[in-house]
Amino acid sequence: MAGKRTALIAGNWKMNGLVADAAALAGAVAAGAGSVNCELLVCPPAVLLTTVSDASKGSKLAVGGQDCHAAVSGAHTGDISAEMLSDGGAAYVIVGHSERRADHGEADTDICAKAEAAHRAGLVAIVCVGETEAQRDAGQAEAIVGGQLTGSLPAGASAENTVIAYEPVWAIGTGRTPTAQDVQAMHNHMRTHVRDSHGAAFSDGVRLLYGGSVKPENAEELMALADVDGALVGGASLKAADFLAIAGCCR
Ligand code: PEP
Repeated sequence: MAGKRTALIAGNWKMNGLVADAAALAGAVAAGAGSVNCELLVCPPAVLLTTVSDASKGSKLAVGGQDCHAAVSGAHTGDISAEMLSDGGAAYVIVGHSERRADHGEADTDICAKAEAAHRAGLVAIVCVGETEAQRDAGQAEAIVGGQLTGSLPAGASAENTVIAYEPVWAIGTGRTPTAQDVQAMHNHMRTHVRDSHGAAFSDGVRLLYGGSVKPENAEELMALADVDGALVGGASLKAADFLAIAGCCR
């Protein structure tokens, strides 16, 4: 990765963990956070946010949400606002994860509104994009990701308030990854795309994470790519040793 961008290794715990597990996992990650050359973030289920915030106090480990509603408050049963996440200790929120796009029918316009809500609440939005296997096989991967970036990134996105995660849908939780060349080519395409839409300062400064079956075994190669500024990690973020080993690959 380019030297001026500080790498971010973000763990997406998804719908995993109870209070005791979360406190132990966050405590173990927090204990190692001072020894790695990157920023470290974990995104637990929302009900565990305060547990994880408490366990990470005084450490370099940051905490984030996995999703937010676009509104500040109101009649939205089961939803959580960006302000509530911030109140619970979050500094980041993931928006547009492919599981939200698929399971909850979220469209780019919804994700854009959620990213704006994150910014309103002072959170950094991690905006996720990525193609399906059929789209890649059809040679559409770059066009799909470009369209998602155009639709999901708010006009007010800056390198400080936004991170972009490229997560090919077919690589999430499958143990399969694109080749390092394919990842670098897509990240380079994304950087060029956002230069056209949001300008050079954004394009040069925004962190582009790769996500999809990142493990200690493949992290070294992926983190060394010029346009990869960290990782969004699912399964391997549930084991402190694996998560810290991935973070240890950031130079
Ligand atoms: C994810 O869900 O964001 C993810 C990348 O999962 P995994 O690392 O398990 O593929």
